[in-house]
Amino acid sequence: MAEVHPSKTVEINDAVFCEAHLKEVCTDCNIDMREENDGFFGFEFIDREGLEAPPTGQNKENVYQCKKHSSSGCSQCYGWKKQITRARVAAKKAGKK
Ligand SMILES: [Zn+2]
Ligand SMILES: [Zn+2]
Repeated sequence: MAEVHPSKTVEINDAVFCEAHLKEVCTDCNIDMREENDGFFGFEFIDREGLEAPPTGQNKENVYQCKKHSSSGCSQCYGWKKQITRARVAAKKAGKK
């Protein structure tokens, strides 16, 4: 599973998403970048909800940036570490049953 290296991915503020939908886990594109992103941000991979980029556009240099603040490193829209932490907490809670 970790060996799947899709060709169409993009990086937004250091996290990887599918290019077509800007999703971390995308069934349409058949990709799952959670393990990669978790590793990058220093997390151990667990089965958690995938990240999804908020409304995003590209600037003149083709760099992705949030539509809300026109920032490519927006800590509010692209605060992945915070979002991953939240998803992990939710996943752990859900796993307790
Ligand atoms: Zn996709
Ligand atoms: Zn923003």
